[in-house]
Formats: sequence, C-alpha cells, structure tokens
Amino acid sequence: MADNPYWPANRPPEEERAEKLAVWQEKYAASDALAGIETTGRFEPFSQRNDMFNRAFWDEKINSAKTDAFFASHRVAINPRRAEGFRQKDFALRNASWAVSNMLSSRAGKHGKREGFNATIDEGGPVCPTKVEIDDVAIMTTEIKKIARLFGADLVGITDFDERWLYEARVDARDFSPAEHELPDGLSNVIVMGHAMDYDLVSTYPSALASASAGLEYSHETGIVIQLVTYIRNLGYNAVGSMNDTALVIPLALKAGLGEYGRNQMVITPEYGPRVRFSKIFTDLPLLHDQPEPLGVRQFCDICTRCADECPPNALPYGPPEDNKPNCSTISGVKKWSADCEKCFGYWSAIGSDCAICMRVCPFNRRGNNWRDRLFQKLARSRFRHLAAWWDKHSNRAQRLKPGAWWKQQ
Ligand code: SF4
Ligand code: SF4
Repeated sequence: MADNPYWPANRPPEEERAEKLAVWQEKYAASDALAGIETTGRFEPFSQRNDMFNRAFWDEKINSAKTDAFFASHRVAINPRRAEGFRQKDFALRNASWAVSNMLSSRAGKHGKREGFNATIDEGGPVCPTKVEIDDVAIMTTEIKKIARLFGADLVGITDFDERWLYEARVDARDFSPAEHELPDGLSNVIVMGHAMDYDLVSTYPSALASASAGLEYSHETGIVIQLVTYIRNLGYNAVGSMNDTALVIPLALKAGLGEYGRNQMVITPEYGPRVRFSKIFTDLPLLHDQPEPLGVRQFCDICTRCADECPPNALPYGPPEDNKPNCSTISGVKKWSADCEKCFGYWSAIGSDCAICMRVCPFNRRGNNWRDRLFQKLARSRFRHLAAWWDKHSNRAQRLKPGAWWKQQ
C-alpha cells in the first residue's frame, strides 16, 4: 500500500497517469458531453477503501463508538428511543427490509467479500456453452429491457464498459486492505437498472422507518440482478451482477441515459426524481447503448438550493459544480457538486440511521401520477423553471410525513 493510506493503492507514475488521462479524454469526450460529465487534469479512479462506509472501519478520524453502533444496529443491536420513527418497530422494519440483501452480502464474509457491496455477486449459474444467435441487436436490446422490467426493475439503460469508473481497487472486508477485481475480460456492456424507493417511506426521512425504503430496494435488486444474470448466461453470454461494488454507478447511470446529475449528488430521473437506487450488470451480450438527453436538471439546480438549505450538517455545496475535494471520500478530477461525506455520515451516525432529507425535499421527488406533478415537470424543464421552483417552495409537497402517521396509513 502507498505511504499515504488515502491514495489509490496502485497509483501509477505521474507520466503514465497523464498518458492514460489523455486517452480517456479523447475516447469519452463525446459520451461525457451527452451525459453532462466533465473530468479535469486531476482525474484518477476512486479507491473504494476511501468511501465513508469503509473509512468508518479503518480510519481513526471517522471510526467511533457511534459509527460502530450505527452498523451493529442494522443487524440486531438496535437502540430504540421514544422519538417517533426511532422506536423498536421502526428499527425492526428497517432491518427486516435489508434481510435478503444481508443474506447475500454476508455469505462470503470469511473470504473478505461482501457481495453486492465490495465484491460482485457470485450467482447465476454457468454460461451455457451454446450461444443464442443474435440476428438483430436492436431486438435483443428491447428484449433484455423487457425481461429486466419483468423481473422488477423500474428503469433500464445500457452503456459501454467505461473503465474510468471502476474502483481503482475493491476492499477486502476482513482488514479493509485493497483487493483485486475479479471481473472477467470482454464484458463490454453495462446494463444499469433503477429501483424506485417507496414515496411514503421516503417522506418520513429522517427516521429509522424511512430507511426501510433503502433496504427494501437493496433486497429487491439482489433478486432482480441474479435473475437477469441467470437469463443472460442461459443465452450463452457472460454476465456479472453488481450493486454498489466494483464501479461507481452514478456516472454509468448518467451515461445509460437514466437521468441527470443534481446538486444533492443524486441522479435525478424523469420518472422518480432522485428517489432511485441503481444496480448494474457487466456483460458481453451484444446490446445497443442508450444516448442521454438533457432534462433541464442542471439549469434547475442552478437556481435551487433546497437540498443544501435543508441538510442538517451543511454537507451539500452552494454555487456551481466544481472540481474540489472536501476530503478523500470524493473522487478527484470530476467537476460536479460534491457533498462533504464526513459531515453527512457524521449526521447518520448521530441519528443512528441513514438520512435522505436531500432526496425528500428535492422538487423532483414526486409521485408523478397527477396533473400537478406532470405540470411541474414541464415547467421545471422549461424557461419557466423559476415559476416551478416558486410553486414548489410554496406548496406542502416536501413536508415530512410523521412516522406515526405513516404507521396509521391504510
Ligand atoms: S443525506 Fe442528509 S446529511 Fe447527507 S447530504 Fe443529504 S441531507 Fe445532508
Ligand atoms: S433540491 Fe434543488 S438543487 Fe437540490 S438536487 Fe433537487 S432540484 Fe437540485
């Protein structure tokens, strides 16, 4: 490992890095422009060891009794209190929603793997030795999207395997040392799937109850990813399932045309706004790539600071996107809105559950099934965005649903 524990483990010499960067900038210039991605001369792939969930274990600056309690409480050691949304039944629901995902992520723990989080999902059976013939790649692409939806994906997009977003190294969960990827060569396409979180549960953030909306989708995506991987392998092509592991999913979701990047660090989708989790499948199945289209989110975020205003620890930025690093948990050399993850995770540990206030209050977080939401979308994505922002601010759309009221809803 390099002397500086925050540096990528295998950082190449400066000359080699610059050469690689020049190749990448040329290779990805056109697709980056479409996806709204802007890299700078400081770009280098992100090391998973530096993300907050790993630093919370190995970095003395982050690790504390509170962070240990935060993780322990997701299994059994819950610490209920009298506040609505943090009672025993709230934690019980949160932990139950994670159960399927936990089953998968814990089974290879003795090998240092948390499948779906720091290692790919080792499931799906062997690849059939006979390949199905593909006469028309467009038809295969349509079919794969149909099957992904059949298994339960809410959104599906396809992009190329862009090596810049692979973690520079994954993490061995036994000692948090950097570990090699085990991704086979030749998986040139990435299927990115979106999993919409429950609107009412998200409305109760911050609370342990609200966190069930995240756990539920992690558990759902576990099954969806394994089923689609199995389908592709039965067609005779290789496929490897992945959730938060192996590569940063946000740039892949942007490149797959699923949405546009917002100030709250989330992909804002036309269908669900920021209320979406993403999974991915690396495959050599021939597929057509989606082309991102501008949605007007960037322009709207330029005039809106709702997420930053409402963030309790002031972790979100004001002003335009920048290539800055509040700390090592942000990737280097990408011009974007970046949260201070240390402040954000500090708040999560303090309340004993995750927070997504910045998701709840975002004006794009809507059910989408009524005329008001449809009209908002139209206005927000047009030159009338100031009117849309004013209208949202003066409505009660972002109001927190009291956890007690959620429990009483029929
Ligand atoms: S999750 Fe909560 S603490 Fe973190 S940036 Fe969003 S609002 Fe702030
Ligand atoms: S709350 Fe406003 S600034 Fe933040 S992501 Fe949503 S639209 Fe953008």
